[in-house]
Order: sequence, then structure tokens, then C-alpha cells
Amino acid sequence: MTAPPILDADSARRVKYVVFDVDGVMTDGGVFLGDVDGRRLEFKKYDIQDGLGILLLRWAGLRVGIITGRVSESVALRAAELKVDDLVQDDQARKLLSLKKICQKHNIDLQEVAFVGDDLPDVGVLRVVGLPVVVANATDDAVKAAKVTLTRPGGAGAVREFCELLLRARGEWDALVERYVHSRVEGPVK
Ligand SMILES: [Mg+2]
Repeated sequence: MTAPPILDADSARRVKYVVFDVDGVMTDGGVFLGDVDGRRLEFKKYDIQDGLGILLLRWAGLRVGIITGRVSESVALRAAELKVDDLVQDDQARKLLSLKKICQKHNIDLQEVAFVGDDLPDVGVLRVVGLPVVVANATDDAVKAAKVTLTRPGGAGAVREFCELLLRARGEWDALVERYVHSRVEGPVK
């Protein structure tokens, strides 16, 4: 097992926008494809612990986005469930173009972006953002472009690992956990 990644407080506090790739990052890269009565269906498996990490990123006031080069209804459903700020599904995988448009619209510098990727379509983005991150199963070219390599693979805790790493380095993790725990023990049961 590789050593846990280290992230300094300055780099972590500079981040305003966290963007995730989907296949190989939010999933293990596997896709279930099927045909039911002539209708193409695609399923992916997501990690519930990753979802909670993304919730805490949002609670910390960070913008969260998903940019993928594959179009699928499954991703739209997951993005809605996670209430992320931006979802881009571009089958041409022009991820940097999409990222720049979002950053321009919301006045975010690329140096204030953390991007988590795993493969060639991510390299162009990893090379220019302030905090380029790859999962443990990333390809060599993606690893070369990253500053942080996570110990967990995509679809098996990598997203959660990054959320914790970032929020701990910012000194915000413990307070967010307490806020979450209180939110579950107080108030009416629904
Ligand atoms: Mg990928």
C-alpha cells in the first residue's frame, strides 16, 4: 500500500471548486450495458461513503462539479442525488473547455480548482488546475500530471479519501463531522 498523501494547509485553503471525473473515479470504471425491449440501459455502481464526503464539501462552502466524457442517465441521477452545483456530460471529452466556462461564469481561477481524475481525458485539466489529484488506479500519464495520488481506487473510497484529506488540511473536518452528527440526533424524525 502506498503512503497516505500529504496536503498542506495553504494548498487546501486555496481551493474553492472541487471537480470529479466519473468513470474510474466515482466508479471503478465498470459499466453495465443492457438492452431491454430495444431500450439501451446503462448502470454504474457508486460508493455511498463518497456521497457523504461530497455533502461535507458542500457544507464547507465549496462549489462541487462533475465533468465526464461519457453521457449517461445514471450520472444525471447521481449528480441530482448529491446536489452538485455543476454537471457536464460531454461525449467529446473536452473537459478543460467545460471547466473554463464554469470558472469564468463564477469568477473562479483555475488555481482555485481541485480536480480528481484517472485517465487520459483528465490530463489536460490536471496540468492546469491548482490542485491536480488522481486515484490509486490512475494511469501513468494521469499520475505524472498530478500533485496528489490517493491510496484508494475509484469507486472504492477514493472520492471520500480526497474529501477528508482536503477538509482536514483546511482544519474543517472535525467541525463538519460534529455538525453532521448533531443534524442526525436533533429535530423531528422524518
Ligand atoms: Mg475516468
